[in-house]
Amino acid sequence: VQRLVVKIGTSSLIHPNGKINLQAIDQLSYTLTGLVNEGKQVILVSSGAIGVGMGQLGLTKRPREIQAQQALASIGQSELMTVYQQRFAVYGQKISQILLTHDVLDFPESREHVHHTMEQLLEWGVIPVVNENDTVAVDELDHRTRFGDNDQLSAIVATRSNADLLVMLSDIDGFYTKNPHKFADAKLIDVLHEITEDSVRRAGGAGTELGTGGMVTKLKAAQSILANNKMMVLANGANPSIIFKIMNNEPIGTLFV
Ligand code: ADP
Repeated sequence: VQRLVVKIGTSSLIHPNGKINLQAIDQLSYTLTGLVNEGKQVILVSSGAIGVGMGQLGLTKRPREIQAQQALASIGQSELMTVYQQRFAVYGQKISQILLTHDVLDFPESREHVHHTMEQLLEWGVIPVVNENDTVAVDELDHRTRFGDNDQLSAIVATRSNADLLVMLSDIDGFYTKNPHKFADAKLIDVLHEITEDSVRRAGGAGTELGTGGMVTKLKAAQSILANNKMMVLANGANPSIIFKIMNNEPIGTLFV
């Protein structure tokens, strides 16, 4: 693996009490810097802006109004980048911010610009930190057009940047035969070669209060990764240094290949 995209979910970045998980961010910064120093090119897709914004304002419930969510994203995004900037700087790693919306990636000209910018950053050994531009994304009418807590966005970024691997970090060890939070007899699936209707059924409903993607959007991401003959690993982001093990080809989480 030469180029990888790492996607980290809200549930891995924010404690249940609403505080930023600084330890996870520190581990992530340490790990991704290590990979860059080994000569890998790394793109980070980070969720969490709305959650961090909620923490800043002391909100415990995600507001329903779109404008409140977008305002929280605006607050949280800059706070989140500040934390990333600080933690990565400790390890001497440069990062940048790229905020994307669907139309940017649908429109060939802006898509090209994103592509070239990304290539330039990677060539310079910078880690681009990508997120959906929540403040301008207008998807009140149809939530299915959103990137789904960045799961789909990370798959798009991975395929467009021709990355060999997408590592998706969540609050769960991988994809199970059923939701392990509901069924004690759920079993971890080590490898999956295709996403069938049966897989989607196993993914059940939505995710957590903070996370918005759930397992279904992760499977959709896996589906487009597989369609492009790339690999994806879904693993637990509780300790992001797990990425070192994944890069060592250790059997971690669920491998989609
Ligand atoms: P993130 O915030 O990391 O994107 P989500 O909370 O959105 O994570 O999605 C992960 C959740 O999906 C799990 O914690 C679990 O509750 C739920 N889930 C539903 N079905 C499954 C399954 N078959 N295997 C694993 N997790 C599942």
